[in-house]
Amino acid sequence: MAYQALYRVWRSQRFDDVVGQKAITQTLKNAIIQKKTSHAYLFTGPRGTGKTSAAKIFAKAINCKHSVDGEPCNECETCIAITEGRLNDVIEIDAASNNGVEEIRDIRDKAKYAPTQAEYKVYIIDEVHMLSTGAFNALLKTLEEPPQNVIFILATTEPHKIPLTIISRTQRFDFKRIGTQDIVDHLGYILKQIDVDFEEQALYVIGRAAEGGMRDALSILDQTISFSDEKVTLTDAMQVTGSLTYEMMDQYISNCVTGDVEQALEVLESILSSGKEARRFLEDLLLYCRDLLMFQQAPNLLAEKVGNLTQNFKELAEQTAAEKIYQMIQILSDTQNDIRFTNNANIYLEVATVKLAKSVRKPVEISNETQPVPTEEIATLQQQIEHLQKELTELKKNGVTAKEAEPVKATRATSSKNTLRIPTELVYKVLNEATKDHLLNVKNVWDDLLQMMSVTQRAMLKASEPVAAGPNGLVIAFEYEIVCGRAMEDEEMQLAVHNNLSRLVNNYAPDMICITKESWPKLRQSFISQNKETPGEQPNEDRPVMNEENHLLTEDEPAEEVNNQVVDEAIAMFGEALVEVIND
Ligand SMILES: [Zn+2]
Repeated sequence: MAYQALYRVWRSQRFDDVVGQKAITQTLKNAIIQKKTSHAYLFTGPRGTGKTSAAKIFAKAINCKHSVDGEPCNECETCIAITEGRLNDVIEIDAASNNGVEEIRDIRDKAKYAPTQAEYKVYIIDEVHMLSTGAFNALLKTLEEPPQNVIFILATTEPHKIPLTIISRTQRFDFKRIGTQDIVDHLGYILKQIDVDFEEQALYVIGRAAEGGMRDALSILDQTISFSDEKVTLTDAMQVTGSLTYEMMDQYISNCVTGDVEQALEVLESILSSGKEARRFLEDLLLYCRDLLMFQQAPNLLAEKVGNLTQNFKELAEQTAAEKIYQMIQILSDTQNDIRFTNNANIYLEVATVKLAKSVRKPVEISNETQPVPTEEIATLQQQIEHLQKELTELKKNGVTAKEAEPVKATRATSSKNTLRIPTELVYKVLNEATKDHLLNVKNVWDDLLQMMSVTQRAMLKASEPVAAGPNGLVIAFEYEIVCGRAMEDEEMQLAVHNNLSRLVNNYAPDMICITKESWPKLRQSFISQNKETPGEQPNEDRPVMNEENHLLTEDEPAEEVNNQVVDEAIAMFGEALVEVIND
């Protein structure tokens, strides 16, 4: 039997097992006990905080005939069938996956019929913010006149992308990040159950690295276990999680403290290109600065809490004035606010880096101040800030949230230095024989594949996604040019993808071709144009390759034209569906 990741095996099966969301699970249990459930729920919150687990438990509890205190029994046929995902009346749809549109088409066919095996039909729509406008409209109509005994549970990490008209028709629950202590307790519990010895400190390191997500915590634990011999030790956990973070942050903060902007920007770039997400990095930096302050006040307490502190950290804490650290914290939390609604977080982080290095340097400059003329260095710094500010204003002006514009801007801004050679011919070769099924197969196992990779490989692949696949090749698009370049050269990683994929998808072992996300729409477009006999001609039915490719297009990236097709399709699909629902 294939190896099952911990987060799958240890998925909670009862409301009381959902860690860190007591208020929510209690409310849901009460609703079930009092039979006062709503016909639509919205579960929001960061990834790995228990949204879909709670949704499945809810589906079981409301349908279980032996439910006690609002909890499912998990033993009856209904419960077991739902757990195993084979009860027809509980339908899970992943709006982010390629087949989201198709599966939502099923709502038309199925919602109008009464549940067949269970009392309630439950639709769990994950990553619901990814639905197209047409699908949202259709969903809204269904929510306005909900069929009897049908319950919708919508889950999302990005509630701000959901139309208010939908939100107002749901009962909303905000799942919060899980506290480190809760995560540590849960990991400890699991390790005891599976009989693996551990050092308590290791769990704190993992808990902290997981940043409030249980699924991440379990994945890291998985890796740490496979990395350790017999016992999960603090050193193992540091190796798997911390080494990158702490050492790199040591370097970054040191450079900021000494005012070495260029070096700091360089470290920043390598941190981001290793796959670290800007928001998380900012949080880490804030924690790091807080730790610096804490170390100055109570070194022993901190050492106990964090585990082992690097020499560099200790030196920094001893040499940096508290006032400077406060200044840095101010800049960092301002930046945190700035990036809340942007998708160009990296640029803000670059600006923050320049500010950090400058702010820390300032007091020194003033105290040594003899000449009023700014030094060459300050001039360079100011130039850098001006340059970055200009980029920012431009981005704001051009509508930072416009989705199509971002990747291009972001890539241009962060890596204007090097231009990557995209292997166009190889991509065409894959597209020539690409099918939707191949891509679906890859997408379905992508998460599992990532779990099988090493930490660094996973970090690299995290900001990437499979965009096309055929029998012999797989095209992966990377968010950042610099990561893409690295992936192109990383034969070991490519081999790992090749091998692991063949394990996950029945002997399917395609070659991996790396491109940037920025280049993908163009590549796809030019491939299509090349394959048309006369320019402007619509692809027709008797060209199988084009059909496949077109299919792939309609369900993929939100290129405007393509998106409209999806919307049209969905409207056409749902218009009819709703008439039928009402008539019933
Ligand atoms: Zn049951």
